[in-house]
Amino acid sequence: MADDCLFCRIIRREIPAAIVAEDAHCIAFRDINAQAPVHILVVPREHISSLDAATDAAAVGRLALFAAELARTEGIAASGYRTVFNTNADAGQTVFHLHLHLLGGRALRWPPG
Ligand code: AMP
Ligand code: ZN
Repeated sequence: MADDCLFCRIIRREIPAAIVAEDAHCIAFRDINAQAPVHILVVPREHISSLDAATDAAAVGRLALFAAELARTEGIAASGYRTVFNTNADAGQTVFHLHLHLLGGRALRWPPG
């Protein structure tokens, strides 16, 4: 846990968020600035600053499977969805607590900007 990390503060319920699911390892909440009808962030409870800092394959893998399950419960698994880790400056990472974006509910363009 990092005292001044936004997502750690959401995990500790110090800052409100629209939490949609959680388990012992992961928590998922709606992005405050949604870029698609479904835009959920899946984060590990453990503070890991980015994918570049991740070393635990199971921790990273759990985020992907958690997102896949959420896609089914949100009803976008068959229509399709995108999962994205933004890492460091060129990808526009703004919150340095590892998070997987789950985006869906509309056709998504490729390549992203
Ligand atoms: P990234 O640019 O990949 O670091 O993504 C950070 C995401 O966190 C952005 O999509 C923001 O809209 C989102 N975000 C920032 N603050 C909050 C918040 N308080 N609750 C939910 N999502 C947030
Ligand atoms: Zn954190």
